[in-house]
Amino acid sequence: MGLNLVVLVKQVPDTQNVTGEAMKEDGTVNRGALPAIFNPEDLYALEAALRVKESVPGSKVHVLTMGPPSAEQVLKESLYRGADSVALITDRKFAGADTLATSYALKCAIEKTGKYDIVFCGRQAIDGDTAQVGPQTAEKLGINQITCVDHIEQIDDDSLIARRSIEGGYEIVKSSYPVLVTMTDEGHVPRTSSAIKVMTYKNKKAGDPEIPLWSIEHIGADFEACGLKGSPTKVKQIESVVLKAQELQMIENSDEGLNNLMHSLITDHTLG
Ligand SMILES: Cc1cc2nc3c(=O)[nH]c(=O)nc-3n(C[C@H](O)[C@H](O)[C@H](O)COP(=O)(O)OP(=O)(O)OC[C@H]3O[C@@H](n4cnc5c(N)ncnc54)[C@H](O)[C@@H]3O)c2cc1C
Repeated sequence: MGLNLVVLVKQVPDTQNVTGEAMKEDGTVNRGALPAIFNPEDLYALEAALRVKESVPGSKVHVLTMGPPSAEQVLKESLYRGADSVALITDRKFAGADTLATSYALKCAIEKTGKYDIVFCGRQAIDGDTAQVGPQTAEKLGINQITCVDHIEQIDDDSLIARRSIEGGYEIVKSSYPVLVTMTDEGHVPRTSSAIKVMTYKNKKAGDPEIPLWSIEHIGADFEACGLKGSPTKVKQIESVVLKAQELQMIENSDEGLNNLMHSLITDHTLG
């Protein structure tokens, strides 16, 4: 019968390679100074979906991203690895979206794909770092969610069993479809690109039939709930914090060390 699998992926600045130019003087991120990469945990989400596809004949993997035209790169990389179809959710009116507006747009786009069984996300994006988009998207779709999954243990016609990482161990959870899972980077190592698929897709551009563009109208979203308009988060101030060497203090791992730490935090009014 085959399952319809949707994967949400995000293009992010490579925060592992932050240099002195990473922030502009006004405190905003200098995206030009940071290479854009596939959000690491989203590669694990894609790998999990591709493995489900391989275990259930007739399944299809659809990959969606919301971002600027340059985000076509993560979609091409998804096609190189074996995705069946992709779409770039892009519109100037999506700009400035917080997690509420992002998850709303993604919910509309997922519904646009038609009947879906499993939605895969990364647990967290390395730029915004909130880990809210997956759970909020599931909530808006009105479907089950399993967060922090490292392995899909079993796939059946109408349900799956997943293993989620919890503090000090694992939890085994069963859910019927449709379900959204957020994947950690503890699962199967993501596969590399197929050389044949790279040759097929490397010259494709956003807007070509293989990488369609989905606007607000296309996904049937309410303009008022998208982008800055639909985002209650307001950034008041951004501060660039640079720690100096003298500010580093080693705390002895003993009751006395902790007592001294608590004492100095209370004395300088950090606590209390
Ligand atoms: C430094 C910084 C701080 C921010 N702080 C806040 C904040 O406090 N509150 C707030 O509401 N917003 C905040 N934002 C905005 C936030 O990054 C965006 O709303 C973003 O679109 C999604 O949030 P996230 O990056 O935290 O994603 P997460 O919730 O960490 O992402 C989880 C998963 O959701 C999926 N996903 C996320 N975004 C997309 C996308 N665009 N397309 C497809 N799939 C996606 C991916 O699978 C991803 O792995 C911040 C952004 C930055 C750069």
